[in-house]
Amino acid sequence: MFARPIGIGHSLLIAEGLCSCSCKVHLGKMVQTATVSRTKAETALTDLLQGNKRYQQGNLQRCVFNKDRFEQLKTGQAPPAVVLSCSDSRVPPEMVLDQGLGDVFVIRVAGNVLDENVLGSMLFSLQHLGSRLVIVLGHSKCGACTAAQGAYIAAQSAPGQTKATDPISNLLSPIVDCCGHLAKSAGAGASPEDLKKILPVPAVVAENTIQVATVTLKALEKNLGNSDILGEVLVVSAVYDLDDGSVKVLHQQHA
Ligand SMILES: [Zn+2]
Repeated sequence: MFARPIGIGHSLLIAEGLCSCSCKVHLGKMVQTATVSRTKAETALTDLLQGNKRYQQGNLQRCVFNKDRFEQLKTGQAPPAVVLSCSDSRVPPEMVLDQGLGDVFVIRVAGNVLDENVLGSMLFSLQHLGSRLVIVLGHSKCGACTAAQGAYIAAQSAPGQTKATDPISNLLSPIVDCCGHLAKSAGAGASPEDLKKILPVPAVVAENTIQVATVTLKALEKNLGNSDILGEVLVVSAVYDLDDGSVKVLHQQHA
């Protein structure tokens, strides 16, 4: 059922094109790398969405302890997908996508925002573990997006006020910027009533998720520009719905 895990040392060498030995693991993986190309990322996306369907049906199959898998993973990991999700306790990616041990490389931060540490984690999984799918997973009723919406409306209602620089404000800053883009593109006035209509939380969640995926793609292009990996990477934005448990893809793009 599960693919044989590949040790970190093997995948590291193969990912960087440094492997010159002829052992079966290396040869098999090199052939796979040459022929799979974009299929690996697309297959991983299909697998995650099928997992979400099982979750919605209350039929988890992979997000359970599996002794064989546990034993296999002692020698290394090769998760096909990286998931950047919010820290919200109601959205554990392994559960809502029905994935097991070693299946997804998960990065969690409130508001699923991108920073240097998040990018570094993504690059590690892409370059050294063989991941090819990157999915930015926002969710409905996100507290970070709700707070950012409130902060944007408050700032517009009191222009000239000094921008806060505490850790939470810094975290929310890119989502507040998303609110600004949405308001501008809708030609909104500055009144709080106008802004609340133009910036409903679901729209902020969608805009933030798509923006993070867009910025992620650009950052990966910049950092993987000279690597064959880049052409195999698929970046997807998706939103988890707290009401029905579904994950809906908003946008997907190959590098
Ligand atoms: Zn959230």
